[in-house]
Amino acid sequence: MSTGAAERFWRTPLDAEKIPRIRGIVHILEDRCKGCVYCVEFCPREVLARSIRFNVKGYHPPDIVRPESCTACRLCELLCPEFAIGIEEVTQQESADAG
Ligand code: SF4
Ligand code: SF4
Repeated sequence: MSTGAAERFWRTPLDAEKIPRIRGIVHILEDRCKGCVYCVEFCPREVLARSIRFNVKGYHPPDIVRPESCTACRLCELLCPEFAIGIEEVTQQESADAG
């Protein structure tokens, strides 16, 4: 099915307003990072990117370039070998209030 057809038949669910949408806030302990970029490579929403900054160990911690796209899937948190990433789950309303 082409993208055009998908858009033509797509409809917003009738109860969409009642279902809270979960978003994620990414927290990175930069000085734990060893710059492996697993989090950058595997994030399905391209929230993170390689940086040119250095941490205290001399590695490049990731930049959070698309924070609004994080769905709190926690893949980066699971993959990070240094336990340097934590994801905070918020509903869309909470994130709008904070922003
Ligand atoms: S929780 Fe998922 S969407 Fe959010 S930054 Fe991590 S991998 Fe990307
Ligand atoms: S997965 Fe962890 S150690 Fe690797 S670049 Fe990302 S934050 Fe740094």
